[in-house]
Amino acid sequence: LQERLQGTLKKMKGKGKVTEQDVKEMMREVRLALLEADVNFKVVKKFIADVKERAVGQDVLDSLTPGQQVIKVVNEELTKLMGGEQSKLRAAQKPPTVVMMVGLQGAGKTTTVGKLANYLRKEHNRKPLLAAADIYRPAAIDQLQTLGKQLDMPVFSLGDQVSPVEIAKQAVKQAKEDHQDYVIIDTAGRLHVDQELMDELQQIKEAVSPDETLLVVDAMTGQDAVNVAESFNNQLDLTGVVLTKLDGDTRGGAAISVKAVTDTPIKFAGIGEKSDALEPFHPERMASRILGMGDVMTLIEKAQTNVDEDRAKELEKKMRTNDLTFDDFLEQLGQVKEMGPLDELLEMMPGAGKMKGMKNIQVDDKQLAHIEAIVRSMTKAERDNPSLLNASRKRRIAKGSGTTVPEVNRLLKQFDEMKKMMKQMSGQQKGKGKKKGGM
Ligand code: GDP
Ligand code: MG
Repeated sequence: LQERLQGTLKKMKGKGKVTEQDVKEMMREVRLALLEADVNFKVVKKFIADVKERAVGQDVLDSLTPGQQVIKVVNEELTKLMGGEQSKLRAAQKPPTVVMMVGLQGAGKTTTVGKLANYLRKEHNRKPLLAAADIYRPAAIDQLQTLGKQLDMPVFSLGDQVSPVEIAKQAVKQAKEDHQDYVIIDTAGRLHVDQELMDELQQIKEAVSPDETLLVVDAMTGQDAVNVAESFNNQLDLTGVVLTKLDGDTRGGAAISVKAVTDTPIKFAGIGEKSDALEPFHPERMASRILGMGDVMTLIEKAQTNVDEDRAKELEKKMRTNDLTFDDFLEQLGQVKEMGPLDELLEMMPGAGKMKGMKNIQVDDKQLAHIEAIVRSMTKAERDNPSLLNASRKRRIAKGSGTTVPEVNRLLKQFDEMKKMMKQMSGQQKGKGKKKGGM
């Protein structure tokens, strides 16, 4: 989803004027991107309609940067679709707050019980009790007990011979006695939604009236996750959703449609297997992430307006194969200058700030003029093959360009570093496809 949307948006960004036709074409692309990402088609339809309506409105088309305005609208509508504001956990007026975790087998319920407990203690200084009410899956109780031990938190269990309803009731009672302020109930799942499971969950719900009934769904299952959410919500009146495995979800379809389809907010996102891999879900951040609208976009945009695309590709290939010449270097520097202060550009590149040798490459206009003069004083053979530059050639070049030998040497060094940096960067680019799911 990210890649496709970003491609479309990038095209849009460079545009000075946007026509209604442009918006239409762009929306067609966005629509495809969303469908490809396994977003529910009804959600897509409404989304496109909403964006179109706002985007072809006068204030967008007439604004100075209509391309950007359209993107802003897409971002805002996407945020709205995912719930707008961040949705917080409800708390009981009188502790303990009871949280019931429900969901299909393997969705991540038990893991999330541990993660949520850890989060509540770490971020809110709360004391949770974990309740083991999955008596069906072999080793489910053990799994929770192990988590409890790792986190140094109490786990309530009555073994697997007592009904889950009774376990839940007793756990809440225990928490009251021990002044624990949260009870987080782990429940059983099934491979598919079935009535027997729903009945049991309903009974637990009636018995302990949880403040939160959280559905745990696996984001990687895309539209299935949304269907599951719909069935659970119909039967159990969910108060929230925890989207797990967002770290492995590259399409984002579930994140986008769950709220729209079930009208239940996504409250947390699971982004890994460990106990600290849980974060409050921020619709806005998720939208920006999906659209790739961080600083990287700004960078791409800046580069795009200055670098002719074919030429850029050619250069990139040269960088990779390492046969960048001084002529290319000169051209690069010219473009870099047009893009703005180099430091600023580098800051926008993820990881670039940490690159070694970066600080030695600084360009101001005066330096650039010198560099240009030096390069122009080289012969064609020297530009293509800097290793030819021995002491006498360097002296000749310094003289010809009105500079000094140390300056020529410095440029050679910079050129070398630039080559290295370019190599590093093109290496990075290749590894960039798999982004972390965090927000
Ligand atoms: P349950 O059957 O719903 O209780 O699911 P579990 O809590 O046992 O989790 C099933 C598997 O999913 C385990 O291997 C977890 O480590 C894994 N898992 C849970 N949440 C996440 C997550 O956010 N990211 C990743 N990568 N794995 C997760
Ligand atoms: Mg479990």
